[in-house]
Amino acid sequence: MSFTEQGEKYKGERAISDIRGRLKSLKTFQAIFPLLVGRMPGQLVIQYTDRCNARCPQCGMRITESFRRSRLDSDVVKRIIDSARKKGMQAVSFTGGEPFLYFYEIVELIQYAGDAGIRYTRTGTNGFLFMNSHKPDYEAKITRIAEILAATGLYNFWISMDSADAAVHEEMRGLPGVVAGIKKALPIFHKHGIYPSANLGINRNTGGFPLPDVSNSLRFYKSMREAFRKFYMTTIDLGFTMVNACYPMSLEPGSTDGLHAVYGASSEAPLIQFSPDEKSLVFKALFDTIPEFRSKIRIFSPRSSLYSLLRQYTVGEEYCYPCRGGIDFFFVDAKGGNTYPCGYRGDENLGKFWGPVLRNGNEGASCKKCDWECFRDPSELFGPLQSLFSRPVAFFERVLKDRAYIGLWLEDLRYSSACGFFNGRSAPDYKALSAFRQSGTVEEDGHRNEASIPCAY
Ligand code: SF4
Ligand code: SF4
Repeated sequence: MSFTEQGEKYKGERAISDIRGRLKSLKTFQAIFPLLVGRMPGQLVIQYTDRCNARCPQCGMRITESFRRSRLDSDVVKRIIDSARKKGMQAVSFTGGEPFLYFYEIVELIQYAGDAGIRYTRTGTNGFLFMNSHKPDYEAKITRIAEILAATGLYNFWISMDSADAAVHEEMRGLPGVVAGIKKALPIFHKHGIYPSANLGINRNTGGFPLPDVSNSLRFYKSMREAFRKFYMTTIDLGFTMVNACYPMSLEPGSTDGLHAVYGASSEAPLIQFSPDEKSLVFKALFDTIPEFRSKIRIFSPRSSLYSLLRQYTVGEEYCYPCRGGIDFFFVDAKGGNTYPCGYRGDENLGKFWGPVLRNGNEGASCKKCDWECFRDPSELFGPLQSLFSRPVAFFERVLKDRAYIGLWLEDLRYSSACGFFNGRSAPDYKALSAFRQSGTVEEDGHRNEASIPCAY
């Protein structure tokens, strides 16, 4: 190559790099713009179908429930996506039922959302496609699925896991052999640049053993600690590089809090019923367990959010950031294609998403009635940032008054950054994660870290 040609090539590369830089700044600006005007980056959970082939005892959509099943028309979903983009939504999740019963339709919608400019698209599965992994065509089947997903802009792909014990998980789901199939499938996904997340719906079988009565709170706490440790170790052994915990999606029997679920994944099933005392111990156990594993696997669950929930169930909710359900976050149901503030507030039908869906200002944010992680975690994570931009005085007052919380929140931000903001299309950076290795943990020296929570508990 002549010198002139080299110069032209260099100029071309510089131009491309400049454009990339500008696009990156534009994306960063788009991401923080809502915060500047007192909002949060919007997210929409679309329940594509309420049909499911699993038997999870904690779920109102299991195959054994008899009700008329529904599925949204793909053109309707595309209209919702177009409207979501116009309304500034940055994240869209396609949930079920079991979304992969309609694999090709979901793939088309993920692609459509990406093309429309939705930056973060997510979907997941109960894993039924991973059964029968002993069959000769298994690898070819999973390779095809991975190739198809990899060709879309999918940001996160979750696989549900209910228990650290494979037999318990498979029994609960009614999906025999699924865990062995997941183990075989993960390297294939990784090869195609997809890093699925294990999604734990916290329940009384999480550890695969019965929980003791809460009257002995220390025993109960220790059992939950053991359950979470076992769970994280299992997910690492299976080959997951990312994990998330969904807080129990329980509706209190006979509750008077006005919640009436439109999303059938929430239920009154005993398996996910935890009394307020039990919930506080569950949140504390998870809060204390996460640091042991943060350097080994990317863990979504923000400890600042767990800290807030723990305080909500112990000393009151004064310090929790209110949930943005119905303000910046919404849920669309499969049955009617209608919009709700979330999956729990089924009495508040806001109509079609492309209609004048209510988006109140900050004054409207007050709900803390459930622990739905999809909405509570981002509300807590973006809460301080939103406050910093829109009410800086309130932010600095809180920094002074609530140093433990702010310290945890800053650590969560640092950890998110080390995790590449939980981008399910990139491999973990274990060097960056190693900064979060804790001394005195299982991984360090065999001792277990009984970290105490900096909280009036
Ligand atoms: S929890 Fe998910 S996989 Fe299980 S029955 Fe409900 S929708 Fe199906
Ligand atoms: S806390 Fe959020 S998710 Fe829960 S009921 Fe209220 S708005 Fe809905």
